[in-house]
Amino acid sequence: MKAEILAVGTELLLGDILNTNAQYLAKELASLGIDVYYQSVIGDNPKRLEDTLFHAFSRVDLVITTGGLGPTEDDLTKETAAKYFDEELLLDQRALSEIEAVFAKTGRVMTENNLKQAYVPKENGFPLYNANGTAPGVVMEKNGKIIVMLPGPPKEVIPMFENQVEPYLASKSEYLFHSRILRVASVGESAMESKVKDIIDAQTNPTIAPYAKDGEAILRITAKAKSLEEANALIDPVAEALYARLGKAIYAEGETTMETEVAKLLIAKQKTIAVAESCTGGLIAANLIRYPGISEVFLEGCVTYSNEAKENRLDVNCKTLEIHGAVSPETAKEMAEGIAKTSGANIGVSTTGVAGPDGGTPEKPVGLVYIGICIDGITIVKEFHGFGDRNKIRERATYYALNCLRKQLQADNM
Ligand code: ATP
Ligand code: MG
Repeated sequence: MKAEILAVGTELLLGDILNTNAQYLAKELASLGIDVYYQSVIGDNPKRLEDTLFHAFSRVDLVITTGGLGPTEDDLTKETAAKYFDEELLLDQRALSEIEAVFAKTGRVMTENNLKQAYVPKENGFPLYNANGTAPGVVMEKNGKIIVMLPGPPKEVIPMFENQVEPYLASKSEYLFHSRILRVASVGESAMESKVKDIIDAQTNPTIAPYAKDGEAILRITAKAKSLEEANALIDPVAEALYARLGKAIYAEGETTMETEVAKLLIAKQKTIAVAESCTGGLIAANLIRYPGISEVFLEGCVTYSNEAKENRLDVNCKTLEIHGAVSPETAKEMAEGIAKTSGANIGVSTTGVAGPDGGTPEKPVGLVYIGICIDGITIVKEFHGFGDRNKIRERATYYALNCLRKQLQADNM
């Protein structure tokens, strides 16, 4: 199946928003084994939308649109598709009551315009009900041509695609595509790729797609097979080979984050934690606290930025600061031990570093961060060298610190 992604919206053309839906859809379609031949962006203009849609169907069988399903006059994607498919649109009771419920819940007044969002194809298609917004998506299908129309907001697009469109598209093929995602920490995408390049190159089914997301590297193993069992049988040995090569750098599988995995480990091991942050300025605390249920183990976080704060709150020795400086393994160690002691937590984590852009020296360049981890009285200090601007360095150091903690928590003696 050949596909085109058509993103609708003047905001996209003006550069006000980034076309992240196209990126998401392109990756998902690739993993379904559907070839995306074209991507287009079109403003909210009925004539150009019509031209583009008709043109798209002259060259592909499947068009996926995002945006333009809203209630306003210029939201015309569905009406334009109905014209192409010569399809009548009818009011759908379920869609209508769902839209009404959204308005009731948010206390907004529903206008006459919103009614048009509840219209769905009479014969050759079906709605994709929207649990995360008002407008349902719509599929139309006729004579081997398919259009899948999705809303604009990514938080609506992604669940709709995953839960409804993916199974539908998979059902069009006698094959299914099944993926397993390995999340790899502490190495960049290109470093990881070179480590496993031979394994990637040797594969045709399953395929292995490496990519970077939110500062970490991901390996997506996708098999094409006639059943889930068959797909897993193809994937498992390849996953094993990747585990053998990358070892503990693979920190988890599937949709998760580093902070989620660390939080789960802390709770599973019943270890309380407190953090003392200098250059990361609360990011470690903020990341861990994203996890619901962290209150079971997270005691406190201190942003001890000045030397005085390090001394007063964490009991860092003034001599340590004087002799070794605030950015030093010695200070990181005392900070971690200090926060563990004053908070009474099992684990104290600290960061101290040079986030830049100024303040770097040849001995202590911008990007140098020391991370202290004190677990049950035993402290290790890790040295990290981050790159990028100030905030990137802070984010990377946070990720690195969480990953160090993760590795400590996964150690056999824990
Ligand atoms: P609404 O009912 O919210 O108007 P809609 O289906 O008409 O939905 P749009 O108006 O086109 O969708 O877009 C709504 C919002 O969704 C945009 O303001 C933007 O924030 C986001 N959005 C739209 N298209 C994209 C895209 N291609 N990539 C990422 N975000 C997008
Ligand atoms: Mg709109």
